[in-house]
Amino acid sequence: MVSVRIHSDNVKKYKQIEKTLFRLFRLFDNLCMLCYEETIHQIKEGGNRNKVRHWCCCLTDNQVHDHWESLDNIQKVICGPNWYDTVKKKHTVWRAVAQKRSLPGNGPCPALGSGGCLICSCRPITCTTQLCEKMIFILSKMGISKANYTRPLQIEEIIRLPNILRIVYGQEKGKIDFLQVESYVKSIEGLRVEFEKFDLSQRRKMVVEAINCFLCGK
Ligand code: SF4
Ligand code: SF4
Repeated sequence: MVSVRIHSDNVKKYKQIEKTLFRLFRLFDNLCMLCYEETIHQIKEGGNRNKVRHWCCCLTDNQVHDHWESLDNIQKVICGPNWYDTVKKKHTVWRAVAQKRSLPGNGPCPALGSGGCLICSCRPITCTTQLCEKMIFILSKMGISKANYTRPLQIEEIIRLPNILRIVYGQEKGKIDFLQVESYVKSIEGLRVEFEKFDLSQRRKMVVEAINCFLCGK
């Protein structure tokens, strides 16, 4: 993977896009927390092997090391050279569990803290744009997406978006302008508006359905 020196203008652009994506992902409410708790429960119980592929992504993936070069470049710009030491020092509840059990994949991610991801801004692209199968299930049941919910997808596989993130994040060389960023943000906002037509109780009901379907069902 090419990693290029990150420009502060690009950091601004990435933050703007990430903020918009966070607003969308917040509409899934407590989905990730329930997914994490159920995963921890299943790990402690010895693991439900049929459900492993649907376990909490931050416990089974390690996006920090998968995207180390570009992540390190960008975090040095926004948090300083010791950003990773700071992340590692934070207490993590999963550690005690994970050290005693083997987990699938290359997880857990070292940035996973007790309250979620310890990287507040400029997370790896995959973390910022991925919709897991539970999220796609919810959007599909609500009639917002027609995508198949058998596997995680990146958001650009669900809606049309300008192909700019790898440049903004310093993984590819190239130039982009604010119009492309605006177009990206506008498309995400469109999806959010559709999702927000469902009130919190409707969304929570779907969250429970998704957890039952992927993690608790037979
Ligand atoms: S697998 Fe999906 S629901 Fe679970 S923690 Fe990851 S993004 Fe959240
Ligand atoms: S960087 Fe954060 S969001 Fe991404 S896998 Fe690690 S803990 Fe999860």
